[in-house]
Amino acid sequence: MGQFSTTAILLRRIEYGDADLILTLLARDRGKVTAIAKSAKRSVRRFGGLLDLFCVLDVVCNPGRGSGLPVLQEASLRQPFHRIRGDITRTAYASYWAELIHVWSEADVPQMEVFDLLFSIFEALDQGALPPPVLSVLFQMRFLTLAGFGPNLDRCGACGRLLPETAPGPPPAFDLTRGGVVCSDCRPAAHRSMPLALGTIKQLRWLAAGDLNQAKRIRFAPSALREGEALLEAFVPYHLGKALRSLAFLRQLRR
Ligand SMILES: [Zn+2]
Repeated sequence: MGQFSTTAILLRRIEYGDADLILTLLARDRGKVTAIAKSAKRSVRRFGGLLDLFCVLDVVCNPGRGSGLPVLQEASLRQPFHRIRGDITRTAYASYWAELIHVWSEADVPQMEVFDLLFSIFEALDQGALPPPVLSVLFQMRFLTLAGFGPNLDRCGACGRLLPETAPGPPPAFDLTRGGVVCSDCRPAAHRSMPLALGTIKQLRWLAAGDLNQAKRIRFAPSALREGEALLEAFVPYHLGKALRSLAFLRQLRR
């Protein structure tokens, strides 16, 4: 890999030695990139406080020596999104989304749609356009769909029946192992299931299909939002096969 320049969102930064930082970036045209910022910790002049989490940067990287990481050469700020970092709840949500992308993404595979999604969600979070839980459900539903493992919310994963719009009696459930809903008849046979009201399913479908502007017009029932968040925050780690540290922090913060 030769020198390259790109626009990227800073997903993660880890201190390395006394002076350096290792950065994980989501670049619009090249996907997940890990680079080293030399002397970034020691010298303020070097990158001048540009390398804050969730910033959008224009970067230039040089190839590393041997098989080493690319070396960050220049960075300039496109979007600071400083109101995310100024608020602990916003930071906790943004950290969760960033970790999700970090864990899921393969290096150097372009992710334009994921980049655009994260950018627009960070922008809305920064501006306070929608409450963080709404943005989180929206982000996860869109992300899962883009990643090709969107939950099936239309048909029972066991018997194949279409879920009714309204129904008396026991609600359907979400079966983690099947990655989708099961109807109330099949629910007792499901292995790892959680209850899911029809109203919540409807809201999740809305959020998966609409855009941010449409989401602003929906009035979310608080119970459905909580149920949707609980479901997605169980489904995402189950699917990734990995517990996410940022999610543990988010849960702690809610308590
Ligand atoms: Zn069924």
